[in-house]
Amino acid sequence: MPVAPLNLYDLTREQLRVQLVRWDFNSVHTARLWNYLYIKLAASLDAMPELPPKLRARLATDTHLGVFPTALETASSDGFTHKYLLALADAERIETVLMRYTGRVTACISSQVGCAMGCVFCATGQMGYTRHLTAGEIVAQAVHVARALRAPAPSSAPSRAPKKCHVIRDKPVAERLRNLVLMGMGEPLHNYDAVMHAVDILRDPNGLALGAERITVSTVGVVPGILRLAAEKRPVHLAVSLHAANQTERAALVPAAKKWPLDELMSACRTYSETTGRRIFYEWTLIEGKNDSPAHARTVGELLGNLPAQVNLIPLNPTNGYAGAPTATEAARVFQHILSSEFKIRSTVRQRRGIDIAAGCGQLAVAEAASR
Ligand code: SF4
Repeated sequence: MPVAPLNLYDLTREQLRVQLVRWDFNSVHTARLWNYLYIKLAASLDAMPELPPKLRARLATDTHLGVFPTALETASSDGFTHKYLLALADAERIETVLMRYTGRVTACISSQVGCAMGCVFCATGQMGYTRHLTAGEIVAQAVHVARALRAPAPSSAPSRAPKKCHVIRDKPVAERLRNLVLMGMGEPLHNYDAVMHAVDILRDPNGLALGAERITVSTVGVVPGILRLAAEKRPVHLAVSLHAANQTERAALVPAAKKWPLDELMSACRTYSETTGRRIFYEWTLIEGKNDSPAHARTVGELLGNLPAQVNLIPLNPTNGYAGAPTATEAARVFQHILSSEFKIRSTVRQRRGIDIAAGCGQLAVAEAASR
């Protein structure tokens, strides 16, 4: 049976060194190859001319660079959000999003093709689960965004520069990828090993060098994954998608809650915060008439009152498969005010970035599949 060529993005720097030595190459080449992969962001072996020809020949036969062609790219009307539908080697599609908030560049990347969790309002959940992504496929998405930031600005580039985009000696400072959220397609903690291996590669100080404090892993409430994160004391941020503060309402929105009920989830969150000393971000998709009343805000306050928590309120991104509508801005502000004034809980109302490009996870993949 033929051995699948090794994806270079699957390897940590140490694993790459070991591989070169195994092939009888001097480990001194590791640094240059790593530099090509993560500093120069080379997209092919042809773009690595300083490697010895014998090493390049070996890499050509036994490895591949998991670079994805872009099947579809869209940009929001304000130019600050770019969404890429990337074509994997097996013709599956995943979504990666580049977001420019004021002074911050963030990549939102996928961890699976589809998702098994089935959240009723989510386009990815409506599509079902196909497979886990490999660590290399997760890393390659961050590299894709880093490359996009380095590419010359297209004519559709934002007319207003992000706040902190400054100029030194008349030369714009290149934007650098600094923030990463695993909130794209898939449930990251359902693919724990590959996700954490990818995080280790992306944090390498000689590579993309993403700080752990700038990486957020989201979960819909996979309790074993939360407890494992706590036990391993991984320094990344954790975001838990709550959406409802009682078991019945939550199970109706998030079927995974039937497997990991709310009381078990909150117990795991408490363990996580106590073990790591970290605050958890609780995500709350605001759906008009469903979970956005003042009474709902008070149930959230009571549930989270004693925990180190920040609530991110996100008006629903409408999808064809779910009839709900986003909460109006004023109702979202009332919700937020109750959390802060009655429960001293910090919260944000997330900007609905890129709604004109179907930036909710899975929406672009569904639209593209329908047009194929
Ligand atoms: S919201 Fe996240 S966990 Fe839920 S179905 Fe969508 S991708 Fe999966």
